Amino acid sequence: MQHQIPVSDLGPLGPVMAEAVQKCVHCGFCLPACPTYQVLGEEMDSPRGRVFLMKEVLEGRVALDEALPYVDRCLGCVGCVPACPSGVGYGELLTAFRAHAEPLRARNVAERWFRWLILATLPYPWRFRWAIRMGRWGKALSGWLPRRMAVLWELLPERLPRAARLPAIVPAEPPRRARVALLVGCAQRVLAPEIHESAIRVLTRNGADVLIPPQGCCGALAAHAGVLPLARRLAVRNIKSFPLDVDAVITTAAGCGSGMHEYGLWLRGHEYEQAAVDLARKTCDISVFLDRLGWRQPPPPLPRPVRVAYHDACHLAHAQNVRQEPRRLLRAIPNVTLLDVPDGEFCCGSAGTYNMEQPEIAQHLGRQKAAAIRRTGAECVVTGNIGCMVQLARFLAEPPAIPVLHTITLIDAAYQEKLLW
Ligand code: SF4
Ligand code: SF4
Repeated sequence: MQHQIPVSDLGPLGPVMAEAVQKCVHCGFCLPACPTYQVLGEEMDSPRGRVFLMKEVLEGRVALDEALPYVDRCLGCVGCVPACPSGVGYGELLTAFRAHAEPLRARNVAERWFRWLILATLPYPWRFRWAIRMGRWGKALSGWLPRRMAVLWELLPERLPRAARLPAIVPAEPPRRARVALLVGCAQRVLAPEIHESAIRVLTRNGADVLIPPQGCCGALAAHAGVLPLARRLAVRNIKSFPLDVDAVITTAAGCGSGMHEYGLWLRGHEYEQAAVDLARKTCDISVFLDRLGWRQPPPPLPRPVRVAYHDACHLAHAQNVRQEPRRLLRAIPNVTLLDVPDGEFCCGSAGTYNMEQPEIAQHLGRQKAAAIRRTGAECVVTGNIGCMVQLARFLAEPPAIPVLHTITLIDAAYQEKLLW
C-alpha cells in the first residue's frame, strides 16, 4: 500500500510500522482468519481495515480517537499473519502502533484506574497474590459493578495454590544431556505453579539441568496494553538476569514466549537491543525444546485410555509457528487419543487482558471455543498458555465440566502414571 507516513518522526519503531503498511496489498485473504471480523462483520474490524486505519492515523488523515475503538477490539491473536500471502508483519505493526498511541490518547478516570490496577499487580507475583486475596472479599459485590470490573472479579480463582519456592538450579538426572534456564514469570507462578513443577520434573528426568535465575514478568502484558516503557523495563531486567550459555531459555506460556521473541522489537534503538535479540534467539517453548531433545525414556501409558483435545494457543501456533511439536509429544503417551478442535485456529478470547477489556467479544469467542471442544467428545483439553487455560476453564466449568491442563502437566502425569482428575 502506498503511504506517506512520516517515518523519521516516529522514532525507532517508525520503519517497522511503515514496512508493514507498505507490504499490505489489500487482498483480503486475512479476513476469514480474523475472529473479530467473523463476530462483528465490519471491514474496520478486520486486519485489512485496521492496517488501513493505522496508516491513515500515522499520516494524520484520521483522528486517533476515531480509529482506536477498532484497534482496541483487535485481539492481537495474529491469526491474520499466517493467512497473509504478502508477509505483512501485523503483530509488529500492532505493538508499535499501540505504543505510539498510548501516550496520545485520552482515557477517562475509570479506564485509567482499571489499567493501573492490572499493570500494577499482574506482572508482580506478590502483589498479584495479595490483590487476589483482597479481591475475593469483594467478590460478593461483583453483580453491582460495571461490566468490565465485574469480569475482573469473575476471573478471580476460588482457590489460590501455595506459593512455591523454586531453587536456583535443579540438576538433571544423569547423564546430563542439556542445560536450560526456565522463565517462571509472573501470573502463572501465582495461578498455576504446578506447571513449573511439572516442567522441572520432565526436563530433569530427560537429562536437562534447569536453572531458575532471579527474574520477573516478561513484559508481554504491558506491551499488549501499549505501555512499552514498562515492557522495556521488565525485559531489561530479564535480559540482565538470564544466562546465554545455556541450550535454551524455556517458556511454558505461549504469551510469554511470543513476548520474549519480540524483545528485539521492543528495544529497537536501545542500548540493550543486541542483548534483547540474543535472548530472543535462545528462547523457545518447552514443547519445542523437548521435541528437539527427544525422550530419554518416553512416558509410560496413562492408567486408562483418554480422549484429549489439543487447543492451539494463538501465541504458540500463529506467533511462534508451534503446532506439531506439542502434538508429537502428546501422541507419544500411550493411551492418549489426541483430537483436534474444529476451527482450532480461532482465538478463545483470552488474549492478555482482552477478556477484561472487551468482555462481550471475549465471551462470545470463549463460548464458541468451549462448544467446539465439547463437540470433539474429549474428556480433557490441554494447551500451552495460562491465559487460554483460565478462559477455557471458565467456559468449560458447566456440567459436565471438562478439565483444562497444560501440555507439560499431562506429560508429567503420564510419567507419574496417574490421572489428575
Ligand atoms: S492478507 Fe495481508 S496483504 Fe492481504 S489485506 Fe490482509 S494484511 Fe493486507
Ligand atoms: S490480530 Fe487477530 S483480531 Fe487482530 S486483526 Fe489479526 S486476526 Fe484479527
